[in-house]
Amino acid sequence: MDTTHNNIESLLLRFNDKSPQEVLSWFLSAYSGRIALASGLGAEGQVLTDMISKIDKSIRIFTIDTGRLFPESYKLIDRNNRRYEINMEVFFPDHKEVESYILQHGINGFYDSVEKRKACCHARKMEPLKRALANLDVWICGLRNEQSITRKSVQMIEWDESNGLIKLNPLIHWTEDEVWKYIKFNNVPYNRLHDKGFPSIGCQPCTRAVESGHDIRSGRWWWEN
Ligand code: SF4
Repeated sequence: MDTTHNNIESLLLRFNDKSPQEVLSWFLSAYSGRIALASGLGAEGQVLTDMISKIDKSIRIFTIDTGRLFPESYKLIDRNNRRYEINMEVFFPDHKEVESYILQHGINGFYDSVEKRKACCHARKMEPLKRALANLDVWICGLRNEQSITRKSVQMIEWDESNGLIKLNPLIHWTEDEVWKYIKFNNVPYNRLHDKGFPSIGCQPCTRAVESGHDIRSGRWWWEN
């Protein structure tokens, strides 16, 4: 199997109009042992966890515990493990990086500037993600094109230059409505915060509920606008 960026175009031609389950079935088999789902524990991550567990329970599914998650997110990890009889992997940040950040910028330094927020995200999310992706050829993500304007150009299959592997977005063409229809129809467990107006769920201090009809990502880092 070609694990470089050379075959992205041919893979896109072959799979771009296929269903997420068809795409997943092929990739999970073709890249067996070298593919994993990175779940942020949002609605899309839950749909993919359900689909993947129904195809092959041995596929790695991981999430990143930044240390600042909502209690509901921890409950969801536990519910996933019980419901699907899987063992989600949890990656943590390097404690030295986090301790150094807090010493320098304070426990909630991310509110002070965009730079400090990005530095926190780097220490708590990007560094553990890099470790989680080591030795993989493909990582699966729950990105959808309609999630925000900046995500319009995302493709179902992309070459992730910074991490040096293929990024697969099986739900890229799905609408929010399709995601929730799947969740309800398949009785997929989901984060209870979605019922309280949180369309997108990240770290507790950086996520809030949004009014219906507003951009679904406007509940993140709102103080920067
Ligand atoms: Fe830090 Fe907020 Fe980024 Fe979480 S979302 S890593 S708390 S800045």
